[in-house]
Amino acid sequence: MGSKSVEQKTGQLVLPGERLGVIEEFVPDAGTFVKDGVIYSKVVGRALLDLATRRVSVHQVGRQALIPKVGSIVMGQVAGGQSDSVSVRIFQIGDKQISNVFVGVLHVSDANIRYVDSMHEVCKAGDIVRARVISDKNQVYHLSTKDRDLGVVYAFCSNCGGTLEPRRQGMHCSKCGRIEERKATVDYGKGLI
Ligand SMILES: [Zn+2]
Repeated sequence: MGSKSVEQKTGQLVLPGERLGVIEEFVPDAGTFVKDGVIYSKVVGRALLDLATRRVSVHQVGRQALIPKVGSIVMGQVAGGQSDSVSVRIFQIGDKQISNVFVGVLHVSDANIRYVDSMHEVCKAGDIVRARVISDKNQVYHLSTKDRDLGVVYAFCSNCGGTLEPRRQGMHCSKCGRIEERKATVDYGKGLI
């Protein structure tokens, strides 16, 4: 494998320190380093040769630790809370399901653009919410649902557990007829992401 040219290695997995070519032939790009005129891979990844520009790059693969970051859109289930904040068990970051559980905090001041008096108007325990991470200081993931596409994507009746459907006046339980309030997303009930 070490003697193959980068043309043959394109798309293949390469290891850190693996020789990719020489600077007389190729242009080193992302994921590479040059020593004594030789281009090596800096990471574990897939080698790529751009035939037009002769640029050689290596695109990192493998297990990237998935943790919520500021700006991440996450999905989670409301675990419970009080009138001023709830905790959310995050189970998805972006479009990736995660196995380890992170707990986010959604405060009433970050729940809606308009003023909200209590989290009871926003979500209830068991609801599925889509939120943005706005702070990760000290591994506490503060969430916001202020955008139109953020908020509750699935809500469950606190009386009977039925799925709530959005109506002009609040969220309606088709099973027991109860009407509740939520800060629902514009695409409520249409899928998780
Ligand atoms: Zn109900």
